[in-house]
Amino acid sequence: MPTEHLSIADFIQRLPKPETHLHIEGALPWELINELEPGRFSSPPASWDKNYRFQSFAAFETELLDMAGAWYQSPERYHIAAKRILSRLKDEQNVRYLETSFASGVVEHFGLDGQQVARAIKQASPPGMEVRVFMGIHHDGYTDRSRGFIEDSIHWPELDGLDLHGAEETPLEDWAFDLWERARANGKFTKAHAGEFMGPEFVLRVVEELGVSRIQHGVRAAEDPDILPRLAAAGVRMDECPISNLKLGVVPSMEAHPIRQLLSAGIPCTISTDDPISFGNTLKDEYMALHESLEFSADELAVLASNGFEQALVDKSLKDTWLQEVRDCLDAYRKGR
Ligand SMILES: [Zn+2]
Repeated sequence: MPTEHLSIADFIQRLPKPETHLHIEGALPWELINELEPGRFSSPPASWDKNYRFQSFAAFETELLDMAGAWYQSPERYHIAAKRILSRLKDEQNVRYLETSFASGVVEHFGLDGQQVARAIKQASPPGMEVRVFMGIHHDGYTDRSRGFIEDSIHWPELDGLDLHGAEETPLEDWAFDLWERARANGKFTKAHAGEFMGPEFVLRVVEELGVSRIQHGVRAAEDPDILPRLAAAGVRMDECPISNLKLGVVPSMEAHPIRQLLSAGIPCTISTDDPISFGNTLKDEYMALHESLEFSADELAVLASNGFEQALVDKSLKDTWLQEVRDCLDAYRKGR
């Protein structure tokens, strides 16, 4: 009997996946704003094109906030969008574990109840998917208007942690170091965006001074091979978004993405989609991009998925179940069924 060979696309489809770097505003299903304001949002953004490159981070942020701001104006809207986003991730991308963040800046701008926003996202979790919700705060996001709810947030049971967002070159202010420490003391998990636009020293700084070990992106750390072993020794893990990096000009081409360098330095990496409403990407696209441009094998793609499950904020038995599913999926692929 001839062996039926599974394609790598079949393997990627079947692979149980974590998504650990997703901005809920950036994941807005485009049809929601198209239905809401068909005149203003008549066709998907030009940035969905494979060859599109953003002129700058500011241009990207302006476009994204224009779309997200049209929708995310109440906790109810967060819930409606999150329901679609999460169920599609589960049904279409085979995502079992999700870490997603919402922006404190949106809560502040529309005067929302941040705790209700966190709850609205959490309650959108479909059965069979574990969801952890983070609030992202910009470097200069601790303002007179946001201070109150940001301080409260580290006591909200619906919130799993904090993430540092926004333009990296804006100086870090004193409040951040203290808040990150107090959040951890209250049982919250902390992470930070770094090494997307600023260099290796900034990545090292957020690890050493902000006390985080989970870095969102971290790509530019690869520019200093001497820093990589220090990051690895500090237990740093990185949640990479290769298509985002390409479209934002963080890397000149997918072939030039340093994910292999980071992995071989002993830094466990995962892959995620970041802001699909801007990049027009799916999680399967990210896996396929690494296979096509960087020759990642099925085994290597499975390592990326396993890395995400290993770092998941769940108990060990659930982690072990997911890791076994990854091994079973790889096994079936090798046997061609
Ligand atoms: Zn991000």
